[in-house]
Order: sequence, then structure tokens, then C-alpha cells
Amino acid sequence: MALTGLDIFKLLPKTNCKKCGKPTCLAFAMQMAQKKASIDECPDVSEESKSQLGSASAPPIRLVTIGKGDKEVKIGEENVLFRHEEKFYHPTAVAVTIDDDLDDGALNDRLAKINALKFVRVGTEIEIDMVAIINKSGSADKFAAAAKTVSENTALSLILSSSSIDNMAAALAVCSDKKPLIHGVNSTNVDGMAGLAKVDGCPIAVSASTLDELAELSEKVKKDGLEDIVLDYAGSGLKDNLQGLTSIRRAALKKSFRPLGYPTMSFVTNCDDPYQETANASAYLAKYSGIVVVNGIEPWQIMPLLTVRQNIYTDPQKPVQVESKLYEVGQPDENAPLLLTTNFSLTYYSVEGEVEGSRVSSYILPVDTEGTSVLTAYSGDKLNEKVVKKAMEDAKVEDSVKHRKLIIPGLVAIMSAKLKDELGWEILVGPKEASGLSAFLKSNW
Ligand code: SF4
Repeated sequence: MALTGLDIFKLLPKTNCKKCGKPTCLAFAMQMAQKKASIDECPDVSEESKSQLGSASAPPIRLVTIGKGDKEVKIGEENVLFRHEEKFYHPTAVAVTIDDDLDDGALNDRLAKINALKFVRVGTEIEIDMVAIINKSGSADKFAAAAKTVSENTALSLILSSSSIDNMAAALAVCSDKKPLIHGVNSTNVDGMAGLAKVDGCPIAVSASTLDELAELSEKVKKDGLEDIVLDYAGSGLKDNLQGLTSIRRAALKKSFRPLGYPTMSFVTNCDDPYQETANASAYLAKYSGIVVVNGIEPWQIMPLLTVRQNIYTDPQKPVQVESKLYEVGQPDENAPLLLTTNFSLTYYSVEGEVEGSRVSSYILPVDTEGTSVLTAYSGDKLNEKVVKKAMEDAKVEDSVKHRKLIIPGLVAIMSAKLKDELGWEILVGPKEASGLSAFLKSNW
């Protein structure tokens, strides 16, 4: 049974030393009870208390690391069912398959395309995380050869997928140093696969079509001394899988059911329709897969997935912001237009995209409105003439433009008079929507 805050408090040193970053031991205990703090953050707790705290000191969903180095993937350690309750911490890893029965040329071509799956969205680079090598041939030699080629030619983390113990051993022999995720483990091969994972220190994914069987398998590999476990619930379809993934998350968070307290993964590789594949993968990404594996490698298939991930794994209490400073679009000179907006990322990049499209070199000044959009900022008095004046002074705009004209968003046309008085500049009211900027700049500048 989960310990209460008071149960945990009794086992703490009660010195209120604040070394854990909390004001008191009681505050720390309450955070621990809500799984928002770990016992490791208290340097003075006794070993005896640590062992008594047992599962209360462990996160409800274990953090599992796959791979090594810059591109290692961390999944799990989530505390909530719904993002608005707190936030989601470890973004779902997106993996793309490579079958080992491809000839060398096709395999290298596919790998080159996979390595190139990188995009920039709202100022952030987003990319895939893993390559799943599938032992489609059934051959140990081909599986090992594919694992070797992929491991030598990508920095991405690896998943090795085979239900054959011998074939898995052959592939691990050439890439175990990359700490790939061993996948394809079921009730018939679990002992042999767990043995390989233990020898090579690799994480292991157990697969089953019922939650009971999945829990039994995870318990089994845990008894074999393995901790880094991923749960692959392979139900009877999208609806069943989503229900299974939700039940796993609920059991871990609400019931502290340790056998299901691991991150999950989903294979979305049996859709004939590539659009449906992306749609299904997005659903798994939202609820609650730690890894989604897809076949599609076209940018139009991957970009939507990564966009969904970027949206879900931002902190809902902290809007994504850009730095408040003077940005140059194109090659603006001292006569270039100066546009005002706010530092909410989506707002800024909408404006930037439209200005870029207009081919009118310009300056953009996003005012620091704590990441709120134009109307929200104005309504909350975070966008007013004083704030704008300070932002212009901080950005030294008068050093960059010699004219004294400021283009403001049409949504806050009402600010014009006060801005004119405060700045002594001419105020031009731009369009209400960023999409109108191109025509506005061409006809007004
Ligand atoms: S570090 Fe430990 S002893 Fe110090 S306040 Fe935090 S919980 Fe209490």
C-alpha cells in the first residue's frame, strides 16, 4: 500500500535542513507521497529508513535508458495521467523500422533517409530517436549484418527485434556496446533473452497480448536481476491497445502496481494505409507509449508525429517562448520595417514565417509578455506602451533603424494613440492575422 506523507515524514531526519530544496522535511515527505520527489534528494536519510520506504522512494514508472551517448533515449518516470495535472517529462521516442532482408543498397538508402529525418519547428530542432532492426529474414547472419551496418552508420539508439535467442545473440555480438533494446521477448523465450540482456547490460522489452501475461513476464525478468524493462502490450487493435496502455499507466500510478511500473512501447507497423499509420502512432504517442515504432520514413509521415510529440511534451504551465530581442529577417538595413509582436513562440514564428515569405527584409521585436499571445498579453496588461518602450530601449532599436515607424498587430490597434505619445514614433496598424503581413508589407512599405 502507498505510504502517506506522514508515514514518510516519520522516517526522515526531521532537521529541516533544506538540502533537498524543500523548506521542511514535512514538505519533502508530502512531495514524495505524490511521487514528485525521490528519497535520493535527501542526503541525510539513513539506510534503514531508505529500505523501509521501499517502493515509496521509487518512481511509480521506472526511468529506462536505451542506447549510449548524446542520442541515448530516456523513457518512463511519468507521474500523472493527464498533462494538465503537472506535465509529462520524458518524450515518447519515435523509432523507424529497417528489415534485415533488404539488400545492401536498399538498406543503406533507407538508413540515409532515416538519418535525415530532422525538422525545425517553432525554433526547435525535432528529430526521430531510434532505429528498430527487424529480423524479418529469420536468419542470424542477416540480422547480425543489418545490426552491424545500422549501428556503424547511425548515431540513433537501436531496437533489435527477433524472437530467436540465437539470432538475437548474433546481433548483440556486433552492437551490444550501443546498449540496444532487446525486443521480441515472450513467454517461450524469456529465459534465454533475459540471459542475453543480463550479460550485455541491455534493456529488455517483454511482449504479451494480455496485461496479466505482461505483468508475469516483467516479474520474471525482474527476478532474473533485470530492472530496465519496457512493456510491449500487443492487443487486438487500436482500441484495445489504447485501453491496455491506459490501464498500465493507471495501475502504475494509482495502484502502485510494480509489475506494470515500466514504460511502454507500441508497434504501428501493420497498417496498409500510411496516413492511418501516422494517425494510430499519434494516438499511442498521446496515450501512453514510451516508444512508437513505425514503418513510414517520408517526412510528411514523421513530421506530424514529431509535432504532436512537441505539443504534448511541453510544460502546459510554461508557454514556449522566444528571447525578447531584435530579430533580423532577410538582410534588413536602416530603412527596413520594424514589426512588434509578443514572445509567445507560436505567435513569433507565425509572424517570422509570413515576413520571410513576403521577401521584405525586416526587423521583428517580440516583447516579453511571459509567453502569452498578443490579445492575452494586452488583456492581462503585459503588453502596454511602457512595456513596449522598455523592450525597444533594451533592444536598442534606434541603433538599427533610422526611420521612426513601428508596425503593431491589428489586434491591438487600440494601443496606437498611447504608443505614439509614449514613443514619439509613427504607429502603423498592421493586419489582425499574420497571414496578412505579406500583402501589408508590400503595399505599405
Ligand atoms: S534534506 Fe532531508 S533532512 Fe533536510 S529538509 Fe530535506 S528531507 Fe529534511
